[in-house]
Amino acid sequence: MARVVLIEDEADLREILVYNLGQAGHRVQAAATAEAGLRLARESMPDLVLLDLMLPDRPGTTVCTALKHDPRTQDIPIIIVTAKGEEVDRIVGLELGADDYLAKPFSVRELVLRMSAVLRRGESKGPAVIEVAELRVDRDAHRVEVEGSELTLTALEFKLLTTLVTRRERVQRRSTLLADVWEVDPGVTSRTVDTHVKRLRDKLGAAGRFIQTVRGVGYRFSDTDG
Ligand code: CA
Repeated sequence: MARVVLIEDEADLREILVYNLGQAGHRVQAAATAEAGLRLARESMPDLVLLDLMLPDRPGTTVCTALKHDPRTQDIPIIIVTAKGEEVDRIVGLELGADDYLAKPFSVRELVLRMSAVLRRGESKGPAVIEVAELRVDRDAHRVEVEGSELTLTALEFKLLTTLVTRRERVQRRSTLLADVWEVDPGVTSRTVDTHVKRLRDKLGAAGRFIQTVRGVGYRFSDTDG
């Protein structure tokens, strides 16, 4: 399952994609304008963005640029979906850092396959072992050590830690953590996040200081003060 933000102004196509990608097991949030789509992507930090280039308010290329230039969102893969023959847009899109391109009309099956490929590439991104001072996180082996001693974390705590540590220095909203770690709709019980962060911090001991509270927003993994 992937969380997808779809930015598409054609209502019919939007509905078809929301329905079919939902059937394929993805959770899709849709927007009809560049502005709304950008806001949605920034808020929900999805696993993937599907981006139409011809949008009513401004070109989809500007959404691509905005997401790829923001350290918080630059790793979110983007697949451009646009009308056939717009060769210029295709080149521009890929130059702007889009991860793939699909010309309309396309089959949902093809889109789903392309999405899987892009998502797989994304998963292998980043080092398997992350070391920050006395903390060592081995994502492949599911091992966490502090000063050489292995910690016993629950699967959820491990996921919470790896989510925070791979998004180092980036503030994670409670709703984002709820969606990415718990995989439930955001806004249900943000208190759950606080409870688990506290437990994780306690288990990490001295290394718990890396998980910083950003008041009124959420949490950030950081090895610098503040
Ligand atoms: Ca369009």
